[in-house]
Amino acid sequence: MESLAIITSGGDAPGMNAAIRAIVLSCHAKGIKCIGFYHGYNGLIEDECLTLTPEMVRPILQYGGTILKSARCPQMHTDDGVKNVAKTLKRHKVDSLVVIGGDGSFRGMMALQSYWSGRLIGVPATIDNDLACTDSTIGFSTAVSTATHAIDKIRDTANAFERVFIVEVMGRHSGHIAFNVGLATAAESILSFENCPSSSLEQVKLSLIEQIQTQQKNNHTSFVIVLAENLWPGGAQGLKQTLNDTANIESAVCVLGYIQRGGSPCPEDRILATELGIEAVEAAYSESGVMIGKEQGKLIRRCIIAATEQKKPVDQAIHSVYQTLT
Ligand code: ADP
Repeated sequence: MESLAIITSGGDAPGMNAAIRAIVLSCHAKGIKCIGFYHGYNGLIEDECLTLTPEMVRPILQYGGTILKSARCPQMHTDDGVKNVAKTLKRHKVDSLVVIGGDGSFRGMMALQSYWSGRLIGVPATIDNDLACTDSTIGFSTAVSTATHAIDKIRDTANAFERVFIVEVMGRHSGHIAFNVGLATAAESILSFENCPSSSLEQVKLSLIEQIQTQQKNNHTSFVIVLAENLWPGGAQGLKQTLNDTANIESAVCVLGYIQRGGSPCPEDRILATELGIEAVEAAYSESGVMIGKEQGKLIRRCIIAATEQKKPVDQAIHSVYQTLT
């Protein structure tokens, strides 16, 4: 292998820079030219790139975001867009492309397989942690930590005012962040896809109201609801309205939003990103269409189809802990 290219694609996640650093340093040690393309697949279509050197990546480990920038690229949903990506890779004589991103970015890799015969390696980076074949994705631990610290602060105000607080967390369509953050902050209620299927929202509403009223009658204290984004019609504001209209319960809303995507990666994400990055370069010598993951302490290589065809469910043990405590 003489030349390897990297993109960061889709939602940025803390630790993407750590993965870039590991890949670049690993390529340098092996005498492989490493090219970074900007703005995800867009940079491959527009041929926006630079050769990455160890000097460029040595100081980036501790920073969130990505020095290669990230973006969505609608053209990847067309044959012409994918063909243009392939053309750029051929022109630069790239042997292997490492895609650092989430399941959408890996679907882009699958599309590219039809037009490019080089080797394709995925490194899972998304705060949502929804990819199968890895216990954790790069960025997830940091996002949980960021949201936990934020809710600890909200709890102080909630306690002072004996208030109901609805805190909406990210996760797209999975509840890894909601459940982990809910447990870490001793939330009185966690509302997520796994325990609140859309058909049961009426029942969820009634039992939530009962829970809040019981708690408010018995103790003067706060009540924190951790709500997964995209779950409740109208989001956190919608739930606030529902509680008010149905039971005259007042609540305050905080949508944590993008603060969960940013910030310095925590040590777990820095280490995970470094391990996955180094393994990606190793895999790029002989494999294609694989994602590098880590399960039960071991680095693994799995077909990207297996990694993306099903969302990884929230750990059953985490569910059980929540049920035991509520
Ligand atoms: P993430 O990688 O974080 O899941 P997205 O779902 O937004 O983020 O996907 C990132 C990019 O990957 C998209 O903008 C698009 O360029 C590419 N992509 C996503 N799905 C597909 C698909 N089915 N076919 C081709 N490319 C895709």
